[in-house]
Amino acid sequence: LRSPYSGGHLEVVVGPMFSGKSEELIRRVTRAVIARQNVQVFKPALDDRYHASAVASHAGRSVQALAVRHVADIREHLSGADRLLGVDRLPLPDVVGIDEVQFFDTAVVELALELADLGVRVILAGLDLDFRAEPFGPMPQLLARAESVEKLTAICTVCGAPATRSQRLIGGQPARFDDPVVLVGAQESYEARCRVHHEVLE
Ligand code: ADP
Repeated sequence: LRSPYSGGHLEVVVGPMFSGKSEELIRRVTRAVIARQNVQVFKPALDDRYHASAVASHAGRSVQALAVRHVADIREHLSGADRLLGVDRLPLPDVVGIDEVQFFDTAVVELALELADLGVRVILAGLDLDFRAEPFGPMPQLLARAESVEKLTAICTVCGAPATRSQRLIGGQPARFDDPVVLVGAQESYEARCRVHHEVLE
């Protein structure tokens, strides 16, 4: 062997809503913490630029996470630029986790690959498909480039089959293909559905 193995690689966990992506991310991160590894978890923030937060699963488990607005904020945080200690560069964490990674733009692909190249174990969790069952944002690029991919399923709320899709409901009715992704003031909800019971109105 000519140089020691750095361990850097990219793991992606995908599936529809309620498939246990956050649970799986929390499981992997908790094991890394037990192994005394340095772990930093991020998730998209909807408002403030930075705030301490947590990744929580529907079943109630959680780990600490930093909510950030942009991929550049993750970069900045990892390089220590937001710390006022006169430290130029912090050592990178052993593990970087990102939940709801589908909400970041494609700059997240470059960041994930860069971190993996630098020896970081990168664990990303997110929706592979949007409510129309179309590939979601940066996910195709991430899935293609990952060393490991785990595709989880939920349970279809109509028939109990493995669910691979997220049904969007507006006022109890299936959403339309053209409905905006963010609807202000609408009664919106989501259910896990199988291929047969997933509905998108024209
Ligand atoms: P995700 O991050 O993929 O949305 P979570 O990890 O937050 O999923 O939550 C998964 C948990 O949600 C399951 O372990 C289960 O307790 C609960 N759950 C609720 N509805 C469903 C469903 N239709 N299918 C599977 N799990 C469900």
